[in-house]
Amino acid sequence: MTTDADCLFCKIVAGDVTADLVHVTERTVAFRDLNPQAPTHVLVVPRAHHANAAELAAGDPVACAELVSTAAAVAVAEGYGGDYRLVFNTGGGAGQTVFHTHLHLLAGRPMTWPPG
Ligand code: 5GP
Ligand code: ZN
Repeated sequence: MTTDADCLFCKIVAGDVTADLVHVTERTVAFRDLNPQAPTHVLVVPRAHHANAAELAAGDPVACAELVSTAAAVAVAEGYGGDYRLVFNTGGGAGQTVFHTHLHLLAGRPMTWPPG
C-alpha cells in the first residue's frame, strides 16, 4: 500500500496522529473534521495515499467507490441519510489543503448553492 511519511492523513490512518474515527472499512477511514463546517462534517479517506480524487479513481476505483458508500453509511448513522453534501476539493485554487484524497461529508444544516 502506498503511504507518504510526511502526509497528515496517512498518519491518521496509521494511528500516529489522533482523530475522532467514526467508521472504518477495509479500504477507508472516516473521521470528524477538526474545523467542522456543519453539525456533521466527516472526512472519508482511502487508507492508501493518493493525491486527489481523480488519482484515486484511476489507481483504485474500488476504493473510490467505497469512499462514497462509506460517506452514505455515516450520513445514515448520523440521522441525515436524506440530505447531505459530498465534496472533493482538488487543487489549491479549489480549496484543497491536504493532498491525500478526502471526501467531505457535510450535513445537519441547510446547504446553499453555489458554494463559496
Ligand atoms: P481540504 O481543504 O484539503 O479540502 O480539507 C482538509 C480538511 O482537513 C479541512 O476541512 C481541515 O479542517 C481538516 N483538517 C486539517 N487538519 C486536520 C487534523 O489534524 N485533523 C482533522 N480531523 N482534520 C483536519
Ligand atoms: Zn497520505
